[in-house]
Amino acid sequence: MNEFELIAQYFMRPTPAGAPLRLGVGDDCALLDVPAGDTLAISTDMLVEGRHFFEGTDPEALGHKALAVNLSDLAAMGATPLGFSLALALPAADAGWLEGFAHGLFGLADAHCLPLIGGDTTRGPLNICITIYGSLPAQAALRRDAACAGDEIWVSGTLGDARLALEALQGKRLLDRTLLRPASTRLHRPEPRVALGVALRGLAHAAVDVSDGLMGDLAHILARSGVGAVIDADALPCGEALSAQDGALRREFALNGGDDYELCFTAAPDQAGAVQAAAQAAGVRVTRIGHIVGTPGLQVTDGAGQPLAIAAHGFDHFG
Ligand code: ADP
Ligand code: MG
Repeated sequence: MNEFELIAQYFMRPTPAGAPLRLGVGDDCALLDVPAGDTLAISTDMLVEGRHFFEGTDPEALGHKALAVNLSDLAAMGATPLGFSLALALPAADAGWLEGFAHGLFGLADAHCLPLIGGDTTRGPLNICITIYGSLPAQAALRRDAACAGDEIWVSGTLGDARLALEALQGKRLLDRTLLRPASTRLHRPEPRVALGVALRGLAHAAVDVSDGLMGDLAHILARSGVGAVIDADALPCGEALSAQDGALRREFALNGGDDYELCFTAAPDQAGAVQAAAQAAGVRVTRIGHIVGTPGLQVTDGAGQPLAIAAHGFDHFG
């Protein structure tokens, strides 16, 4: 199988019905329509073997996750996905691996009617880089710099199970099989909150997706908005597996777990009802976890409002 056969066999597919794609894989560029009045939203995320996933990770899970993390960035902006491109470095043209990878990738792409519009394929250490394109009216974007003092802080879904699964799979922690299974699904097959992001347009002020841990990611909103926050560690929605752990671990992994791909966003208190309605329409639960204050800094308290000494340790590749 040469490079062009590989692309044709695994990555060239009919365009999903209704996709805004004029020309896809096979030419020098793809041609993609942007809805009139919208602005492009663009994001890139790379998954590197040995860094983001272990050697031998199920290729189907990798295909899903590579696209999911990119969709999550569009969700955090409130953008509607239009298409994505795929830059792939492969150690070998392994048909079994490519089949599994394509299955995971297109399974999620099809669920969002999202076309693969092009890419690049080269031999090299396994590296999966996706760029995703979405669109929205520019003034509706959920920017990190838009949080206001007095806003309530919300988080979607649940936190911490992906980190718990990771540590269990690494042998650092014992986890009952019945809990490991759903927690591993959170780690390997995150469900990006695209519908919620779109539903929050015009409602939420700032948003970020929780990829490196809630505290670290919320800190990005605070820094960009020039504000601070108080959050209640005991109000955080823990995943099913994490809920069965002791209190200290629950707080730590909910606050600093990573790989959750939930949305953390802020909204004015008088929008609380509308936020709940938007979440319900999008089919995901949302939980109020604190509020934005004028004084910079992130204060974590317990359920009684007593300050806790917990530091953010979001992931930093060069830290
Ligand atoms: P060029 O040399 O003009 O950059 P390539 O030979 O790299 O073109 O790619 C041929 C076509 O296949 C292009 O349309 C490109 O977008 C597409 N393509 C290459 N690799 C991938 C991939 N991994 N996924 C999807 N499309 C791809
Ligand atoms: Mg090329």
